[in-house]
Amino acid sequence: MPRYCYSITTIGSHQRFSYYASMLGATETTTLRPAAIFRFTIFVSSEYDRISELNTPSTLIPAETFFREGSNFLQTLLSPLSSHRLFGTHIFETIVNAVAHEVRQIFRVDEAAPSSSESEPPEVPVWIVVGVNDNTLFESTNLVPASQEAIDTLLKKSRVVQGESCCCICLDEFNVNAECYTLPCQHFFHHKCILRWLQTDHTCPMCRHPLLTLKD
Ligand SMILES: [Zn+2]
Ligand SMILES: [Zn+2]
Repeated sequence: MPRYCYSITTIGSHQRFSYYASMLGATETTTLRPAAIFRFTIFVSSEYDRISELNTPSTLIPAETFFREGSNFLQTLLSPLSSHRLFGTHIFETIVNAVAHEVRQIFRVDEAAPSSSESEPPEVPVWIVVGVNDNTLFESTNLVPASQEAIDTLLKKSRVVQGESCCCICLDEFNVNAECYTLPCQHFFHHKCILRWLQTDHTCPMCRHPLLTLKD
């Protein structure tokens, strides 16, 4: 199932690493019924690899509870991060707060939200990818968006040719022949994922191949 990328948030940098968080869902819908329950799944990805020991099983929380006390919930969910060498206490707190804030920005609860089934409370999957970049591998740590013209001309619709590859922004696996979008460096992504990414940063998230920015 292709994941729908709601946002990519730059969290900041600490020592040699910089951090971002992508928020992904199953659909574009962000208006929830009052009974909605979030199912959070967290992935941590460093450069090209998932740090699989930090992946946690998905965890449920009623949306309204999350809006009240989301920071505490995420603190527990993300707690394996706090003792990993890539994360210090300071950056851990920042990630928890940024993610809690972002989820509140993306979703809202509305009594009149359409429902697919009256009998069961709707489960809303949210995937959070916490990305870690090693600043010493790349020259620029300042994120500058790509220009709209660069996005329009350089991002090309394509098909996945080799199997067992994933969109490195949402970590969802591509099937062979699935629709994807490629950058001039030939790295490929979901359209929504790379679009969000380029609105934040003008370089390929895999190899840092640069696209033109507004200032160029
Ligand atoms: Zn993706
Ligand atoms: Zn690339």
